[in-house]
Amino acid sequence: MTLPAITPRFAALGEPYSLPIPARPLPTPTLLHVNSALARELGVDPADTASPSFAAIMAGNAPWLDYEARASVYAGHQFGQFVPQLGDGRALSIAEILDAAGQPQELQLKGAGPTPYSRGSDGRAVLRSSIREYLSSEAMHALGIPTTRALALVGSPQPVRRETIETAAVVCRVAPSFIRFGHFEFWYYRREHERLAPLADQLIAQHFPEFDGHPDRHALWLTEVVERTARLMAGWQAVGFCHGVMNTDNFSALGLTIDYGPFGFLDAFDPHHICNHTDQGGRYAWDRQPMIGHWNCTKLLQACLPLLGDTPEAAVARAQPIADRYPATYSAAMTARWAAKLGLRAFRDGDETLVNRWLALLASSKADFTRSWRHLARIKALDDGPGTGVREEILDLAAFDAWLPDYRARLRSEQSDDAERTARMNAANPKYVLRNHLAQAAIARAETGDYNEIDRLFALLSHPYAEQPEHERYAAEPPPEARHIEVSCSS
Ligand code: AMP
Ligand code: MG
Repeated sequence: MTLPAITPRFAALGEPYSLPIPARPLPTPTLLHVNSALARELGVDPADTASPSFAAIMAGNAPWLDYEARASVYAGHQFGQFVPQLGDGRALSIAEILDAAGQPQELQLKGAGPTPYSRGSDGRAVLRSSIREYLSSEAMHALGIPTTRALALVGSPQPVRRETIETAAVVCRVAPSFIRFGHFEFWYYRREHERLAPLADQLIAQHFPEFDGHPDRHALWLTEVVERTARLMAGWQAVGFCHGVMNTDNFSALGLTIDYGPFGFLDAFDPHHICNHTDQGGRYAWDRQPMIGHWNCTKLLQACLPLLGDTPEAAVARAQPIADRYPATYSAAMTARWAAKLGLRAFRDGDETLVNRWLALLASSKADFTRSWRHLARIKALDDGPGTGVREEILDLAAFDAWLPDYRARLRSEQSDDAERTARMNAANPKYVLRNHLAQAAIARAETGDYNEIDRLFALLSHPYAEQPEHERYAAEPPPEARHIEVSCSS
């Protein structure tokens, strides 16, 4: 087996940013799934992933060449409250490499055993939550939304205690960097401000080389993170993704979706949907995500104030316009998303009302979010041809019948061609998302030792915009008994 060579970057920053911690071996690990496409992108020969030594590395039972696994320290605002020390409590970086395209990539094992940041927890992840992270991160990637990725899923019979006894699993996740907003907050609130610049400069040198060495590089990088975060939130809203735990320690300094826990995709549309059973107050409800994204950016900017000016006043004066980039960037990204989802070539004055009326129809009907948009793609600009399926989703038919002519008029105003628009809309409105009940079915089968449903969902969700008629039932709304699956922070 030939593995891509190690090129330490974050590890090179050394202590106290991260500590070398050996992974704790798992008994009889089994490779439950390998992402061959990602292996290839990383420069790992997919044939090599079948070797027992690859499974051992993915389980944390053997090192990646001579890299010493590391856990990093961070802090974070959790549900609005600052927690001064968190860190990789159950994630270990096991390699930093250059991928086949020469881009830096870091590999992390989630669930590889305790670290000094485990805060009394076991450092493990259960099969259930590992399947969810494995499938959803790749599903988001296929949806075109920036995210950490997943290379391999390993299971083990080792018992893990949660509400019940479950079994351990490890996900090998991949990203150019796993640095979070909370990494900066840690040093800021500890008043070790001199630690901020090395961290930021390492990140910039590796992942924002266009700003490297620039005197204003920290402001340029922060502007980029704020804008990426705003665009990421628009991406989440557009596909009905709810993250569930938008704490600043779960926000990536590269603007990636990270830490898939009690996430969910909208089924029946409720803008106030709360996907995380633990989030009683609905702080992270679907319709609050864009605002929380902004709030998190202000927390990152605050933590980076020492990088932005020699006096507090100067720093705040520099930070404010960066924070102010968020609303405009989000709004531009979101209107572009809505326009694409509606099949409009551009978002014009008045289109906001069209979107809001449509969303209100979906909400009052509790219509299936994913399917309704997909059906909308079949509407014709001119006539009322039957069989688009949209009308069947809607309860308030009077409001729908008032909205539809306005939508059609808007389509005709840009000489919209039906076939061409349908194709465009189908590329903006996924047919398949990882609904909770689908993940749950794969989990239930995996818990009996049958991993076929993981394979099937992985393949299906790799092409979320394609029709895949043989898998039509995966596009259906959840059956009544599966509409209220509760997912919590327990993972
Ligand atoms: P999360 O809510 O999953 O983002 O986790 C918050 C923090 O708790 C992170 O620093 C995790 O590393 C840590 N953590 C969560 N679960 C465990 C666990 N089972 N063992 C050790 N640390 C954990
Ligand atoms: Mg986390």
